[in-house]
Amino acid sequence: MPATDVLVVGGGPAGCVAAWEAAAAGSGHVLLIERDRAIGAPVRCAEGVGSAGLREFLDPDGAPWVSRRITKVIFWAPDDTEVVLRNDDVGYVLDRTRFEPALADRAAQAGAEIRIGTEAVRLERSNGGWRAVLRGPRGDETWTAKVVIGADGVETMVGRWAGLETRVAARDMESCAQCVVGNISFDPDAIYLHFGPSVAPGGYAWIFPKGVGVANVGLGVVALRSDGRNARQYLDAYLARHFPRGTVTGFTVGGVISAATVKRTVADGVMLAGDAAHMINPMSGGGIINAMKAGRLAGRHAARALRAGDTSAAALQPYHDEWMEVLGNAHLQYYKLKETINKFDDEFFNRLARTVNRIPLEKRTLGRVVAAALVHHPTLLPLAARLFVQEFC
Ligand code: FAD
Repeated sequence: MPATDVLVVGGGPAGCVAAWEAAAAGSGHVLLIERDRAIGAPVRCAEGVGSAGLREFLDPDGAPWVSRRITKVIFWAPDDTEVVLRNDDVGYVLDRTRFEPALADRAAQAGAEIRIGTEAVRLERSNGGWRAVLRGPRGDETWTAKVVIGADGVETMVGRWAGLETRVAARDMESCAQCVVGNISFDPDAIYLHFGPSVAPGGYAWIFPKGVGVANVGLGVVALRSDGRNARQYLDAYLARHFPRGTVTGFTVGGVISAATVKRTVADGVMLAGDAAHMINPMSGGGIINAMKAGRLAGRHAARALRAGDTSAAALQPYHDEWMEVLGNAHLQYYKLKETINKFDDEFFNRLARTVNRIPLEKRTLGRVVAAALVHHPTLLPLAARLFVQEFC
């Protein structure tokens, strides 16, 4: 029976970085499997990432996997009042069909074996490790693994096989619909975020540029808050209103979990990373950099546990604890803030946009936008204060 020290299930950002880090940290044999026939495709994502987080892993300057550098954030209120925030280093819109292969390449260079078109279809505990049935081009193969990293995304099976609770409450699941739209007019250096329950109840709409005149245009909707329409129908209405002459060249749907990290991310010989463990920013729905940070930690802790000869849940628990320190605890705060924001009506966002626009552009910072929000909703104050200490100080 073929054997590996670390089996990484899923070749998204979490899995690629986990394999990269586990191999680089000297874990022995590392096997990364991806069920799709290509790493990075199909893309079910708006592909926006913050600059600082990305630079922890790869240098975006001149990289072929960058679609667009972003220097502005434009908020739209439900009545289309526009608020511009300028910052020279906001982030990037990636080309994930090239970005994830670049991560996988790092993993391979560090020594990991990568198999595409290969799906984990069963996982059972065996002799203190795991026995995994992998279905690939050569048929079914049974492997043994000392540690399994479940980086298998929103619909994680690894979590279920390991007995970890990964179900999502309906109120915390956003259904997203997104199109690639060309032949449209917008600022290609900006990402646009459009708020309000009439636009996208429980979520928001976005325009993330892929190039001049071409953008990912999409939105996320919490079904329980919708007026009966699904995400696709909200998006069709959005496109008809804002880009009636745009050329739609791609369409995708996907789920975004807007909950905080699952309570247990480790079991004996198993760690969950990325969407599989709900490690997404519950306010923004951004999960790419979070997944990479989690993958990095998971890879390191796998190597450490293997070196110590103890891969029990107790030995892997420091992975969970470190994740909570790095981002997990902040996500608990964001979750509460999201709950509060979800109570606001369209008029709140309209008034907020008008108040913020009275601040001159050169003095308009995220801090001042939040301060303006507090004028309209003082109950946000304690949460905002905590977020500011954590995020910006
Ligand atoms: P994934 O990227 O989902 O990767 C999991 C991989 O595991 C998949 O490739 C899957 O094929 C594979 N897999 C699953 N099961 C198995 C199995 N049994 N065997 C082998 N392989 C398996 N985040 C951002 O940061 N910015 C954005 O702009 C953004 N926009 C988004 C827009 C939409 C419409 C959606 C749906 C999500 C968006 N996200 C965004 C979220 C982001 O896509 C995810 O948070 C991120 O991809 C999580 O990475 P991951 O590696 O955990 O999981």
